[in-house]
Amino acid sequence: MRPDTLTVIGTELAIKWTDGREDFIPLERLRRGCPCANCQGETDVLGVVHRPESKPLVAQSFTLSTYGLVGGYGFQPRWADGHGTGIYSWEYLHRLAAPPAG
Ligand SMILES: [Zn+2]
Repeated sequence: MRPDTLTVIGTELAIKWTDGREDFIPLERLRRGCPCANCQGETDVLGVVHRPESKPLVAQSFTLSTYGLVGGYGFQPRWADGHGTGIYSWEYLHRLAAPPAG
């Protein structure tokens, strides 16, 4: 599963997959699902999640300032609030795009 094209349309990331499917992920959901250690925290050997103190999200946190593709592996957005360490694998993007189960 790989994207054919990635485009930002308004407040959504539009992904056209190589199999012809199209997904639209709201940028807010994308940011809230940021997979970087800073946003998701890190789990220690005891299973305790350590989350560095994170800044509250503001309107700019959901605005893309630019983005790049990482070595054919994933998508790396840079947000207008300066955050840009999260790398979204294709598989993860696909999961984010899926409607919540149930
Ligand atoms: Zn993050």
